[in-house]
Amino acid sequence: MSNSKRILVTGGAGFLGSHLCRRLVAEGHDVICLDNFFTSQKTNIADLLSQPNFELIRHDITLPIFLEVDQIYNLACPAAPGHYQYNPIKTMKTSVLGAIHVLGMAKRCRARVLQASTSEVYGDPEVHPQPETYRGAVNPIGPRACYDEGKRAAETLFMDYHRQNGLDVRIVRIFNTYGPGMHPYDGRVVSNFIRQALRGEDITIFGSGSQTRSFCYCDDLIEGLVRMMNSPSDCIGPINLGNPDEFTIRQLAELVIEMTGARSRMVSQPLPADDPTQRKPDITLARQRLGWQPTIPLSEGLRRTVDWFRAIRWSDYRPPTPNY
Ligand code: NAD
Ligand code: UDP
Repeated sequence: MSNSKRILVTGGAGFLGSHLCRRLVAEGHDVICLDNFFTSQKTNIADLLSQPNFELIRHDITLPIFLEVDQIYNLACPAAPGHYQYNPIKTMKTSVLGAIHVLGMAKRCRARVLQASTSEVYGDPEVHPQPETYRGAVNPIGPRACYDEGKRAAETLFMDYHRQNGLDVRIVRIFNTYGPGMHPYDGRVVSNFIRQALRGEDITIFGSGSQTRSFCYCDDLIEGLVRMMNSPSDCIGPINLGNPDEFTIRQLAELVIEMTGARSRMVSQPLPADDPTQRKPDITLARQRLGWQPTIPLSEGLRRTVDWFRAIRWSDYRPPTPNY
């Protein structure tokens, strides 16, 4: 008997979504990629378009859609700060209405549905590293709130559909993830530093550069997502997925400069409001429940990412927003 499933990936043309679709198509599943191409483009999934088990739907998840599927990965949402702050009201609608629409679909089809939540639900954390039990320190009225609170509301909806309707849900909290296929103009720190280094431009350090992040390579993250989706039914989450190796932003800049051989200077720019000062996942739960942990260290992941950035044609990419 075939184990092939009908799987919907919302946000499937994006950075993580395209890697996930590629993996699921390779496994022989019948994959539907839904995207409105706000922060992505068709070329990200061009290699999949000729596959008989891949289907593309241009659709905005803030509007209802009726499909018959067995599993749903809900990734549709702008993820880079410059992208989600560009139209904050739309960001909140995407998180909340998007969650309602995929949950409604999952209820009708009896599908299992996974929510791509985020470490941003912890806000600017006072607990370090962050375990799933930490309830976070989010500024509900700040510029990041559209994303943080939108994702928090989506988690609430997932848990309420689970408790009220017995829905089979999964919640993962993803920490900073990078790799080939990131939008080169997304304004995130890894893509900015590599782009700036390869072009010999100044490397923009926001604030002192002493703030920390913990960077997970995309292949590791996708493995975690797939394991979570296929975990036993009592494994609902939320569960942290990320790489616990923590770096300051200045250390990241030094690594990129060294790896690219760039002659770029580091220049300071103002720290954006509510920028978290520290972030590092406690992945005890992922280790225990999923037998998962990252395998690719930052030096190796960055090398692969730099190689990818060296090979792309910059003119193929249109900045989704002016914020990069
Ligand atoms: P991305 O911006 O590359 O991908 C998001 C995709 O969703 C894009 O293809 C975009 O066009 C699509 N999209 C946005 N709004 C939509 C809408 N209204 N309807 C349909 N499609 C829409 O970002 P990513 O890094 O691939 O992130 C994917 C998911 O993972 C997001 O939900 C994000 O919040 C979550 N996440 C990512 C990270 C990370 O570091 N990459 C960290 C935490 C959480
Ligand atoms: N950052 C930076 N220079 C840049 C882009 C980002 O110093 O050109 C900093 C940003 O202020 C934050 C960290 O890098 O402290 C990570 O930013 P990113 O936008 O990648 O993701 P975040 O984790 O803040 O959502």
